[in-house]
Amino acid sequence: MYNPHSLTATEFIDDQEIQDTLAYAQANKDNLELVNQIIDKTEELKGLSHREAAVLLLCEDRAAQKRIFAQAAKIKQQFYGNRIVMFAPLYLSNYCVNGCTYCPFHFKNKHIPRKKLTQEEIRREVIALQDMGHKRLALETGEDPVNCPIEYVLESIQTIYSIQHKNGAIRRVNVNIAATTVENYRKLKEAGIGTYILFQETYHKEQYERLHPTGPKHDYAYHTEAMDRAMQGGIDDVGIGVLFGLNLYQYDFVGLLMHAEHLEAVHGVGPHTISVPRIRNADDIDASSFTNGISDELFQKIVAILRITVPYTGIIVSTRESQKSREMVLKYGVSQISGGSRTSVGGYAEEEPEEEDSSQFELSDQRSLEEIVNWLLKSGYIPSFCTACYREGRTGDRFMSLVKSGQIANCCHPNALMTLKEYAEDYAGPETKRLALELIAKEVESIPNEKVKAIAKENLHSLDDGRRDFRF
Ligand code: SF4
Ligand code: SF4
Repeated sequence: MYNPHSLTATEFIDDQEIQDTLAYAQANKDNLELVNQIIDKTEELKGLSHREAAVLLLCEDRAAQKRIFAQAAKIKQQFYGNRIVMFAPLYLSNYCVNGCTYCPFHFKNKHIPRKKLTQEEIRREVIALQDMGHKRLALETGEDPVNCPIEYVLESIQTIYSIQHKNGAIRRVNVNIAATTVENYRKLKEAGIGTYILFQETYHKEQYERLHPTGPKHDYAYHTEAMDRAMQGGIDDVGIGVLFGLNLYQYDFVGLLMHAEHLEAVHGVGPHTISVPRIRNADDIDASSFTNGISDELFQKIVAILRITVPYTGIIVSTRESQKSREMVLKYGVSQISGGSRTSVGGYAEEEPEEEDSSQFELSDQRSLEEIVNWLLKSGYIPSFCTACYREGRTGDRFMSLVKSGQIANCCHPNALMTLKEYAEDYAGPETKRLALELIAKEVESIPNEKVKAIAKENLHSLDDGRRDFRF
């Protein structure tokens, strides 16, 4: 029985409710009066229900689709402006006891090199990331209680936060590790993590069990209820996502939104971010053998509908997507992207030799961080290295209330400019620096609050004197 308030996976992700939602969407996808009413409703900026979003997903009417994209672009602009927050993944270990059929780290893969970074290697990787200009990392590990216990993850977080190199510092560590206990989530919270990220992969229980035939991840309920345990452990910023291509996208789209509604219903705060990865080739994984892949057009439509359905939730795309594909989704909803990424264990400080390739998937966007920053600037975006919110205690419902009232833009915009200036001064080549400084000079004048503008200007000047890390 569907119950968004329940803490039981099969009740808040109720299969029958998803089937009924898809049947309702199928029956109404050509009901243009209803479709237009749903699109009109997004003007209120309160989002949509999973049923309403599903109708839009299945609707193929050209004019309605045009309206959806226009509305997504408008809401994106309203909440996120032209800012795009930058991050990089850091893979600590690819030991894994699970049997996931779509990931080369699965335990049966005997030829992929297994690696785990030592604290010294982490230092070298982090310094290399700092030298690129990164301030925000997403830690990634496989699941292996022996080779990669929680103590190792905690020690690694401590190491990362402790490294100051020239003007560099990692100021926010997000963590993407396997579903774990409330106690371990509490430890992660105490270690000062930003967001806890865990992808559901697919919400379809039987398909999930087929794709995860062995290992602790096989347990659908334990995995699906992980975010509730994370929140019970005190982590109030969580990031959800599905791996598009594993299952019928319509099903997972509805499941994703039901998960978001569940978190809001139980904990009073929805997901901080939603990621939209698509399956990619990797070591012993052939993406074309997964028959549920989605086209670029559909991918864009999904991002646009997510944007208008959960306007307050950040949307992330990684370097799984090509430059072209990223270009499209930036316009319609994505607010955070990775850049200059490596998906191997190690590889930032020193390129891995080909025969030692330990990466999780092939990158579709192989540009350096500087190339991406340069491209964003030329495309009219403001690359942001901001990490301010969780450092200022703006997390969970406190964060959401600032977002919902629109006040967060008073922080995001000046913070983007100040952190971009740090990047320009410390890491950018001459052309990127020029573009960044020109943009900052123009953008600072458009800060609406005079007091904030004055402080931002003063801080921007102070950056010229070598001071760093200003934030609202
Ligand atoms: S997806 Fe995660 S849990 Fe599954 S094999 Fe890969 S690293 Fe292990
Ligand atoms: S101010 Fe907060 S919400 Fe805005 S970019 Fe910075 S960390 Fe993100």
